[in-house]
Amino acid sequence: MEIVAVPVLTDNYVWLIHNAEIGETAVVDPSVADPVLEATAARGWRLTQILNTHWHPDHTGGNQGIQTATGAPIIAPAEAERVSKVDHIVREGDRVTVAGREAVVWEIPAHTNGHIAYYFEGEGMIFVGDTMFAMGCGRLFEGTAEQMYRNLRRIAALPEDVHIYCGHEYTLANARFAAHAEPDNDATADRLAAVSALRDEGKITLPTTVAQELATNPFVRAPNVEEFARLRRDKDSFRS
Ligand code: ZN
Ligand code: FE
Repeated sequence: MEIVAVPVLTDNYVWLIHNAEIGETAVVDPSVADPVLEATAARGWRLTQILNTHWHPDHTGGNQGIQTATGAPIIAPAEAERVSKVDHIVREGDRVTVAGREAVVWEIPAHTNGHIAYYFEGEGMIFVGDTMFAMGCGRLFEGTAEQMYRNLRRIAALPEDVHIYCGHEYTLANARFAAHAEPDNDATADRLAAVSALRDEGKITLPTTVAQELATNPFVRAPNVEEFARLRRDKDSFRS
């Protein structure tokens, strides 16, 4: 399996999941259609599934254009119908075939009430949309701190080598907040330096891994939901 990030808008990543053996490619959270169609055409890839993690337009805005161009079905939580037609509505525990591999759907409400993740156990990868970011977590637009903390702990309970694919390049700002929240964490300081160097070169900082988040993500490392909620409030007003 080959995973490609297509950077779009200000800081979104649209993910392509390509299976060369069967000639199928899925797209996760297409904000817009044209850059995705250009990225697949440049590689000679055929888009066969469109996946969404939540309804926000920066994750669904390209659905219709990509479907018109490719005929690929749209797999999404029901809330995505606010923005787009959905062909297969999915819920907790549903198994979907994506580029020939099986993913299980997790309901992880908080950023939005219908937010889901796609976990590919066999491939050791999970697509988490705007729920967890490298060294950070999504904003609580619709749900509660309790829900978000539970989601983060659930993701962090996966095997440590699982790769986590997030919806945005927020790592540098998150790393600065993490260093402020945990000034004595050497792993966090080291990662802040590494992430700064990557961004100076214009390079992507994703995917991350469960092991890296356990070591450096203050939201994952919060010992209880009260501490998590305090960090989330601090982050909302933090200026690095
Ligand atoms: Zn979002
Ligand atoms: Fe987003």
